[in-house]
Amino acid sequence: NSFLELNLSRPLVRACEALGYQKPTPIQAACIPLALTGRDICGSAITGSGKTAAFSLPVLERLLFRPKRIHAIRVLILTPTRELAAQPFCLKALILHHEYLNGGLRVHSMIEKLAQFTDIRCCLVVGGLSTKVQEAALRSMPDIVVATPGRIIDHLRNSLSVGLEDLAVLILDEADRLLELGFSAEMHELIRMCPKRRQTMLFSATMTEEVDQLVNLSLNKPVRLEA
Ligand code: AMP
Repeated sequence: NSFLELNLSRPLVRACEALGYQKPTPIQAACIPLALTGRDICGSAITGSGKTAAFSLPVLERLLFRPKRIHAIRVLILTPTRELAAQPFCLKALILHHEYLNGGLRVHSMIEKLAQFTDIRCCLVVGGLSTKVQEAALRSMPDIVVATPGRIIDHLRNSLSVGLEDLAVLILDEADRLLELGFSAEMHELIRMCPKRRQTMLFSATMTEEVDQLVNLSLNKPVRLEA
């Protein structure tokens, strides 16, 4: 099996080749064809399984065929990044670096690489980066927004020009971590802001009761996948 056989367009297959991916990982082989049909997906998958490309590639494929002149946020990816409460400065810098690599930044840079042969734009909205810069980035209507729940909600509450009314896909990445970090209320608020007619994909390393509640609340007849 290959990326071409998964019905992905040439620019995406080229990007996988450029990244040195020879064949899809098991979660990719299972998730990509299903996601392309528009089904909701609940995946138990850990970091290292290739889950980021598993949800990003079908989303990029969909965006390749979007109407060209309509600019709107079509995909929102929520990822965990620890809030930096009362930490000493040096520790803060360390955590920041580590968490960014593990959370939003990792997903964002992966998408940029997978989208390198397309005109699809992705922006990163996370705590700790300049609010002004992020506001400008959001106003330019990127196709994909990778965000932490706390920070994107601040922007959406305060902005008249940026909204989620044209959202087509919502992705909850590392749902168990998002809940552990206390983002439950923000996620509920964000889910209420999204159009009802959308595709939702949720990934989690562990399937706790809380994660299951989130699945019931946000997904519509999901297919369950295990990596
Ligand atoms: P993830 O589980 O999404 O955090 O991905 C873990 C690592 O696997 C990342 O460094 C990816 O670049 C890499 N990766 C993703 N898909 C493939 C693939 N099909 N072949 C080889 N490496 C991959």
